[in-house]
Amino acid sequence: MQSTCDLVIVGAGAAGLAAAKAARAAGLNIEVVEASHRIGGRGHSDMTTFPAPFDLGCQWLHAASINPYTKAADRLGFRYRKDPFVYRLHDGKWWLNESLVGEFGTSLAATYDRIAALGEAGKDVPAAEAIDPADPWAQLFRRAYTGYMAWPPEEVSTYDTSRFRFTDEDWPVEDGYGALIAADGADLEVNLDCPVKSIDWGGGEVMVGTAKGMIFCRAVLVTVSVAVLQAERIKFFPLLPDWKLDALGRLRMGHAEKVGLWLKRDVFAGIGPHFTMLNWDGAPTAGFVCKPYDRPMATLFASGPFARDLFAQGADAAIAEAKALLAKVFGADILKEVTTTLATNWVTDPLILGAYSVLIPGGGEARAELARPIENRVFFAGEATSPDGFATAHGAYNSGVSAIELIRKALI
Ligand SMILES: Cc1cc2nc3c(=O)[nH]c(=O)nc-3n(C[C@H](O)[C@H](O)[C@H](O)COP(=O)(O)OP(=O)(O)OC[C@H]3O[C@@H](n4cnc5c(N)ncnc54)[C@H](O)[C@@H]3O)c2cc1C
Repeated sequence: MQSTCDLVIVGAGAAGLAAAKAARAAGLNIEVVEASHRIGGRGHSDMTTFPAPFDLGCQWLHAASINPYTKAADRLGFRYRKDPFVYRLHDGKWWLNESLVGEFGTSLAATYDRIAALGEAGKDVPAAEAIDPADPWAQLFRRAYTGYMAWPPEEVSTYDTSRFRFTDEDWPVEDGYGALIAADGADLEVNLDCPVKSIDWGGGEVMVGTAKGMIFCRAVLVTVSVAVLQAERIKFFPLLPDWKLDALGRLRMGHAEKVGLWLKRDVFAGIGPHFTMLNWDGAPTAGFVCKPYDRPMATLFASGPFARDLFAQGADAAIAEAKALLAKVFGADILKEVTTTLATNWVTDPLILGAYSVLIPGGGEARAELARPIENRVFFAGEATSPDGFATAHGAYNSGVSAIELIRKALI
């Protein structure tokens, strides 16, 4: 294969697919190349293991009222739930009562407010600095924060956290967020099983070297994860400039993984969908999404270094740990109810290598620098480049659209 076009889009996740749609609408002649056999990237719904779709990656429409995928869901007939996020706390022996759960909620909100205040004051320090060490809920906050940001607050920037645009609407997609992303991009032509190996941007044209041959183009848009860039899975000629490498060095990949456990029956009878948080000394940074969409199911959601180290050992180790934690919280008899299990493997997937990006303390404007084009020929998008929607599918989507605005101006 040897071809010529205006723009090559590398990666067909949320960012690449959104960019491709915007580029097509702008009349650009594009080629979309994806290393995997499927589109969607970190948006991926498994449709076969359980009797219902299971999201291996993104599941909640964060900031739902300003999320382009909410409109896509409405257009494409995908169901989502608007239920408020309910959580329960377990201390390893007992469930904490509602009054204690309320106390934790108040402490959680106050700590997030302090993180936001530090960030808004321009302080780019570890989010852990906002935690009051005398707060009895400090450890649980650390676990909750790690669950959300995929990395512990000691190593995440207050400035970055404060810039995320929350709307308090986190709506899970019943028919699968991954399936929604794929359906939204289904009418695009994507060259699958076509990993990009090199990008030569030094000459008159950009040359994109793929497993299926060379593509000559005027510009390239790279949407792969931060970890894939850091691992140099794509070779750049000339090398990426120092300012770009510096930005990449101020970002890192956080980790989040799941084990889905399908149950014979609804063991949570009388309680609706909720999230069980683990609150004992030494508890791992993990919890259970219980009864999602009223299904007889529990999903272990693990995050941070704990998730990285456990899931790097493979599915058997992750499933064994999920079952051990399930038994500790719900009693050993619950294991008799488990029929089918499925573990994710984002950390070892060579096309992703983790969950989503994290800005290190002092990381400043690394996201904007990552998004900044090189000589109006090499452009970047993807969740890590989003200033206020990083770590999400909608942030990735918006970054793809923004990149095409820049590319259109550069090329037309
Ligand atoms: C466990 C987990 C839970 C999550 N939960 C949520 C959630 O509830 N809500 C939410 O909004 N977000 C969530 N996210 C984050 C969200 O899924 C991502 O931020 C988003 O999907 C990233 O999209 P992207 O286009 O930036 O990158 P990707 O989806 O990673 O797309 C990049 C694409 O590039 C491809 N690629 C890699 N290397 C090459 C190469 N050399 N050549 C060609 N192609 C290549 C990859 O295969 C991939 O398809 C979650 C993520 C994980 C892992």
